[in-house]
Amino acid sequence: MVTTHNLGFPRIGAKRELKFGLESYWKGQSSLSELKSLGAQLRQRHWINQANLDWVPVGDFAFYDQMLDMSFTLGNLPGRVRGFHGDSLDNYFRVARGRSAHGVDHAGCCGGGVAAGEMTKWFDTNYHYIVPEFSAGTEFQLDSSRLLEQLAEAKAQGVKAKPVIVGPVTYLALGKAKDESDRLALLPRLLPVYAQLLAELGAQGVEWVQVDEPLLVTELDADWQHAFNAAYHQLKSCGVKLLVATYFGPLQENMYLAANLPVAGLHVDAVNGREDVVPLLNMLPTHKVLSLGVINGRNIWKTDLNRLLDWLEPLRDRLGDRLWIAPSCSLLHVPVDLGSEKKLDAELKSWLAFALQKLHELEVLATALNMGRDWARDALAANQAAVDSRRVSPRVHDPAVQAAVAGLTLDLGRRHSVYEQRAATQAALLKLPAYPTTTIGSFPQTAEIRHARSEFRAGRLDQAGYKLAMQREIARSVKEQEALGLDVLVHGEAERNDMVEYFGEQLDGYAFSEFGWVQSYGSRCVKPPILFGDISRPKAMTVEWIRYAQSLTAKPMKGMLTGPVTILNWSFVRDDQPRSRSCFQLALAIREEVLDLERAGVRVIQIDEAALREGLPLRKSQWKTYLDWAVESFRITANGVRDETQIHTHMCYSEFNDIIESIAGMDADVITIETSRSDMELLDAFDHFKYPNEIGPGVYDIHSPNIPTQAHIEQLMRKAAERIPASRLWVNPDCGLKTRAWEEVIPALTNMVAAARALRAA
Ligand code: GLN
Ligand code: ZN
Repeated sequence: MVTTHNLGFPRIGAKRELKFGLESYWKGQSSLSELKSLGAQLRQRHWINQANLDWVPVGDFAFYDQMLDMSFTLGNLPGRVRGFHGDSLDNYFRVARGRSAHGVDHAGCCGGGVAAGEMTKWFDTNYHYIVPEFSAGTEFQLDSSRLLEQLAEAKAQGVKAKPVIVGPVTYLALGKAKDESDRLALLPRLLPVYAQLLAELGAQGVEWVQVDEPLLVTELDADWQHAFNAAYHQLKSCGVKLLVATYFGPLQENMYLAANLPVAGLHVDAVNGREDVVPLLNMLPTHKVLSLGVINGRNIWKTDLNRLLDWLEPLRDRLGDRLWIAPSCSLLHVPVDLGSEKKLDAELKSWLAFALQKLHELEVLATALNMGRDWARDALAANQAAVDSRRVSPRVHDPAVQAAVAGLTLDLGRRHSVYEQRAATQAALLKLPAYPTTTIGSFPQTAEIRHARSEFRAGRLDQAGYKLAMQREIARSVKEQEALGLDVLVHGEAERNDMVEYFGEQLDGYAFSEFGWVQSYGSRCVKPPILFGDISRPKAMTVEWIRYAQSLTAKPMKGMLTGPVTILNWSFVRDDQPRSRSCFQLALAIREEVLDLERAGVRVIQIDEAALREGLPLRKSQWKTYLDWAVESFRITANGVRDETQIHTHMCYSEFNDIIESIAGMDADVITIETSRSDMELLDAFDHFKYPNEIGPGVYDIHSPNIPTQAHIEQLMRKAAERIPASRLWVNPDCGLKTRAWEEVIPALTNMVAAARALRAA
């Protein structure tokens, strides 16, 4: 018999109950015991949702983050929160969110408060975890209370529990040694704690423990490979069976290592690492369970079950009882229930599967594998009909768009002249001073803006009324910018709820869910738009707003667009064509917008690529392929303009060293980046590479409510000028200002403009 199981369930709740519970507790509007009982309710409900599986994950629920849970389980608390006398869940939130001296939460603060733990991306997902902190002196001490309590709850509910923990090697690898010490040196101290935990679980009657080691899908040097062997040799006789779970990609060169760890089972990603499976079969010792992650845990599409069965049936014949099936990874990365969606049209809905629907697919597969396809005839027929309808739907396939992508040439991505020549033409036309000042696009999203938008959405404000309200906001931000004396203005993005959704809503080939929320970090969720079909732009999307804004000022007004790579990386994308093809389609659609803006007389156009870096594959060996098509997509979008038109791009992160060549390859006339917190050191990458075009290193950390002083900005810019010739420097904030208030923005930008003027005068 084939065994079914799940690696993890979305904890946030189908209606984001956990988010609201957390936020209400943090605001002091509800009690800790209410929050804890909400957690228990959600776990209970989610176990009921998974009741048909042979093994159900326990311990995957986290109030904030599974890595932080693990740090608490291992007793690895940052020194600054030790000795806390309150409830340990409160202490957990102190690490997750920080606590300022005056009791207000805000990340990264210090001086009397508690600095929040650093947060970073979980592999190549949009989920962020709290980075474990290590030093040479780190000691571990088991606190199994959370896991044992949840296990007891599960047992009381009759759940076939399979506890889930983050494995020791991945745990160490994802942490940071604050004192630059070698974190692998901690392994001997860490393993006894794991052994003790596993023994305690065994004592509770646990049979299987899932140990997540997604590190195995990344490139490992010899020390880390060795750590895997060392770790699992030490854990092998701990009284429970271990299922080492890998996901997010193929094992490739780590396959032999993974196959031969002394554990009872191995889970592999058979969606993103399908090619591993057959060679793995020949390598895997015959006593081991092989769990195949066959349902995609990273997207929202229905699986083609018959086709999957064609592939699985011979594997079942070969593996027999040793075959387990599961989603490819934890379902944390997909929304909970398609059934909540009332506005999606029936056809589109029939193509989709969220977490609950994915678990149902797993059941159908198990029935077909264990009893024959006949026993699942109706479910398989319905699945087939949906999959077929998507495959041939004219809503998905637009021959004109496909022909345009097939006809792409390199010429399309090339400016007419080289940067020096364009720069001269643009300078003569724009007549900007040295150290020109600008902002990144958005101005504060005020209560009035949000109110007007929600009234419009609810139908209480008509199109004309909404337009007027937005124009009022645009006029306000133009007036403020003129008063501030900025050189290149923006319209302020009042009309945009979100930099991706705004464009998705106006493009053909995009759909939007109501409840398709996915946890990004803590209580924060995102609702990625669903890119389902060939992309086209029925009509101009931004031109009217920009034209209106330009009509209010003699200064240059930037056209403001989101780039194709960012739109792609922040969407659920198609699984029936390569990401690169969807990206090229987006590029062609946004290119038309760029050209329309140019025709409307807009002389500066900014194309944001905030998420370009996020799309980097897990393995460095695949970076080039990604960067090549990503950069080409940007070039197609941006570079069809005349020399006179100045192209800006913006990226809000601070790591460019390893991708600088590609960044330069985009050939934007101006790039604005996040630098204020890194003290301009990241400009070294641009300096060493001899980055040829203009750069606006952010001088105002918009994430902080602090107002930067003129002196500080001048100092940062002088540091910048040590690395980049002053003639190619711009002065601007790190990112958009939509999350700040006007009362913060005005003094900060006043100082910024004053700093630029002082630099010019010097
Ligand atoms: N133009 C966008 C804004 O200013 C850019 C946001 C971003 O880079 N994340 O809001
Ligand atoms: Zn930004």
